[in-house]
Amino acid sequence: PAHGSPVLDVRLARKTFGGLVAVNDVSFSLAAGEIVGLIGPNGAGKSTMFNLVSGVLPLSAGEVHFMGQRVDGRPSRWMARAGMARTFQHVRLMPTMSAIENVTIGAHLRGNKGALAGALRLNRAEEASLFAQARTQLERVGLGSDGLREAGSLALGQQRLLEIARALASDPVLLLLDEPAAGLRHQEKQALATVLRQLRSEGVSVLLVEHDMDFVMGLVDRLVVMDFGSHIAEGVPQDVRLDPAVIEAYLGG
Ligand code: ADP
Ligand code: MG
Repeated sequence: PAHGSPVLDVRLARKTFGGLVAVNDVSFSLAAGEIVGLIGPNGAGKSTMFNLVSGVLPLSAGEVHFMGQRVDGRPSRWMARAGMARTFQHVRLMPTMSAIENVTIGAHLRGNKGALAGALRLNRAEEASLFAQARTQLERVGLGSDGLREAGSLALGQQRLLEIARALASDPVLLLLDEPAAGLRHQEKQALATVLRQLRSEGVSVLLVEHDMDFVMGLVDRLVVMDFGSHIAEGVPQDVRLDPAVIEAYLGG
């Protein structure tokens, strides 16, 4: 998509769990090549919003539009094929498989073969092409020389980058990252931020849920702030951090 064209448009999204309104008529959008941070105190509804956008949970009301198409009601697998890739809060890698094998699994999510079982029936040329693609994704996240290492032997920061490489293998337009910087050391956070900025320059849009305020402030183009299920503020980080409603939400407890 052209830089600045709409990628994601969430319209009055609502999610209730019994009597609890976890997401209360929240609207926001994201344009091509933008990094948007979704922040808010614990219980604000961020993870629920992520699950609504990625098709993991059905909406109670409202709409999600992706690349100009209404997509709410579609399963997460369909979303992945349409160009939306996500990572989870806890690392989900195959620890005894090599880094490059972990990436080839991601490539299959977008293709028509559908399942890893399909990979076993590839001919040599197809397999070589799949591994060449996977190597390209590893290079995009700075793991070009770590392809043959076991995923489980990588440092946490590298594992997070590997998960991003795997998500990139499905050639997504939009990358959804759930707390990608959690638990990382300072240098690992910097490496992650560099990769995300590079992806942005290539036109990949990123929506990230993050608790690490310093990491988010220096990285994102825009912040959407939620509190108790509601959208309470939105804007560039410099403005949002001075917004009385945001300060109240974070300090008011
Ligand atoms: P955040 O990610 O911002 O910390 P969540 O989206 O996880 O917030 O949760 C928002 C609210 O919804 C919380 O009050 C949480 O307890 C509740 N909630 C989340 N998921 C469920 C669920 N599956 N069933 C019932 N309540 C839930
Ligand atoms: Mg959460």
